[in-house]
Amino acid sequence: MDAKTCLKKLEYVGVLAFATVDSEGAPQIRNISAIHYNNDSFYFFTARGKAFCKELMTDGRVQVLGYTKYKEMIRLSGVAKPVPDDRQSECIDVIFEEQPYLKNVYPGDTRSIGIVFEITDACIEYFNLGINPIFRETYTIGSAAAKFKGYKITDACINCGACLDVCPQKCIDNGSPRVIRQNNCLHCGACFKACPAGAIEAVN
Ligand code: SF4
Ligand code: SF4
Repeated sequence: MDAKTCLKKLEYVGVLAFATVDSEGAPQIRNISAIHYNNDSFYFFTARGKAFCKELMTDGRVQVLGYTKYKEMIRLSGVAKPVPDDRQSECIDVIFEEQPYLKNVYPGDTRSIGIVFEITDACIEYFNLGINPIFRETYTIGSAAAKFKGYKITDACINCGACLDVCPQKCIDNGSPRVIRQNNCLHCGACFKACPAGAIEAVN
């Protein structure tokens, strides 16, 4: 798996959930399919009068979520920026060619109320619940940096084995200290709660 394959999978999913935060800090989410994909970025269409557009203009941070029929979750976190003015109309036309239903929603020249945003720098989390053990990995596109999330076992480990007993994925290897196989970890926190030595650190 890699970032390019994740983008391809999102393209196959087609309709994605886009989450932003409004001016009062409340989450806002909507489905979008007016998207054009490149190898390592994508751009999407909305209308300039929508609250979504205002949220993107004000803050820009967006999370995009897709879920495949194979139980793969792909979550992309990045910043959306309007494409430069001299590319707007070309990008709108590309999206309208690829998504013919848009001509019904915005017939003729009414598409000019639209605006295209692009995401070129993002962190992509891939999470496959359809295999055993489960598999997760994080990738980046552009200049985005990956941030660690999950649980880590520290040197305070006394090797009692209580964490492995409660781990649903049995993804804790022997060692001193023991080691969590990060690619197979659910981030469920059962090991953290069970550890008698307080040796497990949560990083969120
Ligand atoms: S967080 Fe859950 S899945 Fe991950 S190592 Fe701990 S118990 Fe196992
Ligand atoms: S429960 Fe805590 S102390 Fe025991 S093996 Fe796991 S990490 Fe180490």
